[in-house]
Amino acid sequence: MSEGLGPINNIAAELAKLPSIGRKSAQRLAYHIISMPVESVQALSDALIEGRRAVRFCQVCGNYTVGELCSVCADEKRDRTKICVVRDPRDVAAMERMHDYHGLYHVLHGVLSPMDGVGPGDIRIRELLTRLHDQEVTEVIIATNPDIEGEATAAYLARLIKPLNVRVTRIAHGVPVGSDLEYADEVTLSKAMEGRREL
Ligand SMILES: [Zn+2]
Repeated sequence: MSEGLGPINNIAAELAKLPSIGRKSAQRLAYHIISMPVESVQALSDALIEGRRAVRFCQVCGNYTVGELCSVCADEKRDRTKICVVRDPRDVAAMERMHDYHGLYHVLHGVLSPMDGVGPGDIRIRELLTRLHDQEVTEVIIATNPDIEGEATAAYLARLIKPLNVRVTRIAHGVPVGSDLEYADEVTLSKAMEGRREL
């Protein structure tokens, strides 16, 4: 980058590392930040640092939390016989928006992807199996995305879980193939959950 001042370019370079922010948007945001009152920039900076430091993973399910347990795991009214398996914490937020599911979650923090070198040991599969041994779980609902990696992960989990005498189901393909669960609307997700099938 030859145009612009060094410090502005530094801000732009950091912003450009964020998802869906291209080089031009990053430059525009950097110039905007420079034009803001210092107190506002400080507030933004504080929110980023404090947010990043405060949020951690739930010790049980891997969802985001500020305490030891996430709000779902800590809620005594949730149905502890069902665990819905998702790829990342954003998917939990999407599922919770539909207000239709009252079970627990398990966040894998990824899906199996041999092409990218992600194997069973790299995602939270062992933790899921431990939960199944410890608890009164009767059904595991696999809600990974309906793309190649999501399907492969679902099939792999089904093979591991079925011998434990736990029902394994897969949400219906109401979610368009290749699209993210995160972007599905509540009605689509609700239908996908309702139409889940045995694996
Ligand atoms: Zn949790």
